[in-house]
Amino acid sequence: MDDWTEVFVMNLNNNFKKKFGDNLSEEVNLSHYSWFNLGGNAQFFFKPKNKNQLIEFLAEAKNSNLKTTILGAGSNTLIRDNGVQGAVIKLGKNFSYTKLIDKNIIETGAATLDRKVANFAKDNNLANLEFLSCIPGSIGGAIIMNSGCYDSDISKILLSIKVIDQKKLIENEIKREDIKFLYRESNLMKDLIIVSAKFKGTISNKIEIEKKQFEFIKKKKISQPNQIKTCGSTFKNINENKKAWMLIKESGCQNFKEGDAMISQKHCNFFVNNGKAKSIDIENLINKVRKTVYAKTGVNLELEVKIIGE
Ligand SMILES: Cc1cc2nc3c(=O)[nH]c(=O)nc-3n(C[C@H](O)[C@H](O)[C@H](O)COP(=O)(O)OP(=O)(O)OC[C@H]3O[C@@H](n4cnc5c(N)ncnc54)[C@H](O)[C@@H]3O)c2cc1C
Repeated sequence: MDDWTEVFVMNLNNNFKKKFGDNLSEEVNLSHYSWFNLGGNAQFFFKPKNKNQLIEFLAEAKNSNLKTTILGAGSNTLIRDNGVQGAVIKLGKNFSYTKLIDKNIIETGAATLDRKVANFAKDNNLANLEFLSCIPGSIGGAIIMNSGCYDSDISKILLSIKVIDQKKLIENEIKREDIKFLYRESNLMKDLIIVSAKFKGTISNKIEIEKKQFEFIKKKKISQPNQIKTCGSTFKNINENKKAWMLIKESGCQNFKEGDAMISQKHCNFFVNNGKAKSIDIENLINKVRKTVYAKTGVNLELEVKIIGE
């Protein structure tokens, strides 16, 4: 860091600390915030206490040209070893809530875990949200990723989202029909921070809903590894008949290793930190598999996992 940058960062730190106190920390180890359990430090780590403070912080960041990165539950994000420059924003407990706003409509904060929303829907006799019980992330991440499983996904239950626009520094509501959802992605702009969402369920019977939830969870336990350091599916499937795991297997990559990064023997699209891996090992493994699959099948696998950092 040259002298000028050092002075700039010092002033920035003092200014930010004064304004945001305990909600802002410096040099926070991000490995605790990714399911891979990997990653370097965030230069700044901000947990807003509410929407107003979030907007105030975004205005300061904009003025200071400070880069911002939003992180959900980190179940789909590989954080690089050299950490993330600028501010990593993680919505805290005030953005984690569920409430019934009509007999079949749930409003939830973006930091709420998916399984909590699934259980809240079940407790209120609302069907079609059962799939959320087996996705380990938060609602914000699930919407950005259009997460789903077993023929359901977010796009099928969403009514609207409330977002903070980082450019305009205002809160907006966006209706489902104005969002284009694709398989594991959406056209939502990068500078939008989702703060809450409304979902529509179908009034049903709690016992039936619970049964479906259990079935999904059981199916997942049989087909996918659990209790390991992973971010789930590494690559997107091409289609139902050409899934990423099939291509990985067909190309003979399932025993590939890089350092302590390996491929799950139970599901070869799940890449795993075996305990001592670095992020670079996971990234090298990703690149090696992608190259091999391309050479053997002509398919260029697209990443589902997001990679952030330096
Ligand atoms: C064991 C395991 C099983 C999984 N199974 C499935 C599955 O069946 N189906 C499936 O679809 N996925 C699955 N996943 C992947 C992952 O759980 C989902 O993609 C999940 O929805 C990501 O949510 P998250 O909060 O962890 O997002 P993160 O990983 O934190 O972030 C993902 C993206 O969303 C953005 N983001 C997060 N919150 C916000 C917000 N509030 N506003 C704006 N942007 C935001 C981030 O910037 C990033 O680009 C699995 C993962 C694991 C570890």
